[in-house]
Amino acid sequence: MEIKSAEFVISNSSVGKCPSTHAPEYAFIGRSNVGKSSLINMLTNNKKLAKTSATPGKTLLINHFLINNEWYLVDLPGYGYAKISKKEQEKLQQIISSYILCREQMTNLFVLVDSRHEPQKIDMEFIEWLGENGIPFSIVFTKADKSKPTKLKANIDAYLKALKEQWEELPPYFITSSENKTGRTELLNYIESINKS
Ligand code: GDP
Repeated sequence: MEIKSAEFVISNSSVGKCPSTHAPEYAFIGRSNVGKSSLINMLTNNKKLAKTSATPGKTLLINHFLINNEWYLVDLPGYGYAKISKKEQEKLQQIISSYILCREQMTNLFVLVDSRHEPQKIDMEFIEWLGENGIPFSIVFTKADKSKPTKLKANIDAYLKALKEQWEELPPYFITSSENKTGRTELLNYIESINKS
């Protein structure tokens, strides 16, 4: 898929205030610092579309970007912040779960995991919760350029093994690097194939 236009539409902290259209939505989520903003900017060929996690005030918001006047890319708040209060963490969880569970336009959720790390408990629990709730999702391994090919393969194999313990069938997965655009075509083609089906 060619990206012809990508524009910021709205930020909010309530699923009730998301755009009232029926365009399909593809949402992106992951632990803070996983590389979500970089991935969104890489996919849309725009260095500044998604703000990095260092930007104050952006962390608790659902951000909608309209792509090609056709579909929304949705930047969900990151989970697993150690630095915010318990109250804020609960609010964050409420925002995330209400979007994921209630937003009918959400066509697929991309769960980002850092390809440098072993399977993390917080990610595995989140993925299990998605399964229990019948949410369509895919895994996106980020920062692939940061490991040597053999190490990258070993890390990804370890993740897939852990996923196989939870699931009979593996979800679709993508190996990406925002640094050198690995996985961009595959991910965009996947979105296009769902949009067309
Ligand atoms: P977010 O908190 O998930 O939005 O993460 P960011 O996109 O802000 O990225 C966190 C840090 O990881 C930043 O310093 C990025 O430059 C770096 N980063 C993100 N993606 C990549 C990648 O694909 N390769 C490399 N080498 N660094 C990355």
